[in-house]
Amino acid sequence: MSKKQEQLEKLNKEMLACSRCALRKDCTQVVPGEGPADAEIMFIGEGPGKKEDELGRPFVGAAGKFLDEMLSIINLKREDVYIANVVKCRPPENRDPLPEETATCWPWLLEQIRTIQPLLIVTLGKHSMERFFPDQKISEIHGRALRKDFEEIGKTSLPAGRQVFYTLYHPAAALYNGSMREILIKDFKKIPKILEKIKDA
Ligand code: URA
Repeated sequence: MSKKQEQLEKLNKEMLACSRCALRKDCTQVVPGEGPADAEIMFIGEGPGKKEDELGRPFVGAAGKFLDEMLSIINLKREDVYIANVVKCRPPENRDPLPEETATCWPWLLEQIRTIQPLLIVTLGKHSMERFFPDQKISEIHGRALRKDFEEIGKTSLPAGRQVFYTLYHPAAALYNGSMREILIKDFKKIPKILEKIKDA
């Protein structure tokens, strides 16, 4: 087992035992995230829904099926990427996580990013985008690769020394909205080129 994998497993165990915020007492289980420790791409959603809460895995409901479909369009499988969420416990009735819940869960996400060191972080939905770009609008920055110095995750190993982020609409929001769905698929298809560019930089 690689060092990164070991670190990630230790981190997962710690997350599974977390009860730092009130979300834990209303959910069935913590959903830390899943994927290879050396993933080049890390997808970050908002929080577990009903199915995720039941199974303990991220993106396994309707939105997850759609995510799998989009991954297959760009010749990837979910096993090729890391998938996590901003909050690891399901908010009751799928409400938006409260600012204090997101803040409490933030160190877990940061540690996941520091461990995996993905080449590309893809945020899914407004709440995930806001963690990294609090002053931006998703309608304005979706589909654009943005480099950003991000103190909390430190300098990456990229030559330019900055983390690359890519913002997408949330698959659940796009599921029943035809035009958003088209935009999301169009944005998604740009991922391989962006990754290539990062590697060439
Ligand atoms: N929506 C999310 O944001 N995350 C999941 O894991 C599932 C649905």
